[in-house]
Amino acid sequence: MTDQSLSPESGETPTHAGFVAIVGKPNVGKSTLLNAFLNTKVAPTSPRPQTTRRGVRGIYSTDTQQIVFVDTPGLHKPKDALGKYMNQEVQSALADVDAILWVVDLRHPPTEEDELVARQVRDLPKPLFLIGNKTDAAKYPDEAMQLYRALLEGRTSETHERMLSAQNSPQAVAALREQVLDTLPENPFFFPRGSASDQTREQWAAEIIREEAMKKLREELPYAIATRVTNWTEREDGLQRIEAELIVEKNAHKGMVIGAGGKMLREIGQAARKQLEVFLNRKIFLGLEVIVIPGWREDEEALRELGYE
Ligand code: GDP
Ligand code: MG
Repeated sequence: MTDQSLSPESGETPTHAGFVAIVGKPNVGKSTLLNAFLNTKVAPTSPRPQTTRRGVRGIYSTDTQQIVFVDTPGLHKPKDALGKYMNQEVQSALADVDAILWVVDLRHPPTEEDELVARQVRDLPKPLFLIGNKTDAAKYPDEAMQLYRALLEGRTSETHERMLSAQNSPQAVAALREQVLDTLPENPFFFPRGSASDQTREQWAAEIIREEAMKKLREELPYAIATRVTNWTEREDGLQRIEAELIVEKNAHKGMVIGAGGKMLREIGQAARKQLEVFLNRKIFLGLEVIVIPGWREDEEALRELGYE
């Protein structure tokens, strides 16, 4: 008996792998669901809409199966270059995937935005999962689910349904993950078995910092803030030194982000540092700087430079 005959590459055990898009309007719980699938934090969540801008991928692997999740930004009517970019993201995400998870919020009946998403997915000839989220907080989940289901009327391809709480029911999330794994085509793995995300650590850290900034700034600032890690070094004693920029559109916004006597920026820095230390499991130094790039959301070149391409 040779070693080769025992290895999975010999063809004895076929592997299944595929890309799965998570779509839905903003704030329904797409990032929360993705994080629950992976048991690790790879995509930012926040109580504010429009937190996720990149098509962040999370990866879940068993010995023989691999799901590559694409967490898309919410579908919405384009307002500016950034909005246009986000809708393109959704379109291209849907064309390339093997299955689609459409997440809806069962606390409320469908809105025009849900209808828009339904129209995008209804006729796609690939497995579709309608996921009614937030059952823990929904008063009339069954009635709401019926209304969402009605938006798919006329659909002829494979369709599955689940009602769950992405936040509170890990068992339901695991069961859904099993069902999704079962729809995957026979394929070699796309990423090494241990990968959790294809983001660089710099992109990942920048999103954590952005998430904390959004939480602290809440009402003060609209969504025109971006972050980028400019330097990441490791000292001999193991301390990680991360330097990052918070990018705003206007001088007035810069003042708000820094706050009186630098208080706001200090609070953002402390919160982000704590998050990063938890996930990196080591001490870090985090240096933050606020810079102004006028109109960066309208500027295709600036968007590209910030990684929105
Ligand atoms: P996304 O914009 O679709 O990615 O939504 P997020 O994952 O960022 O979640 C938006 C908000 O909904 C956050 O405040 C979450 O904590 C909350 N949320 C997500 N899932 C659930 C759930 O199952 N139950 C409840 N009650 N809230 C949830
Ligand atoms: Mg999100």
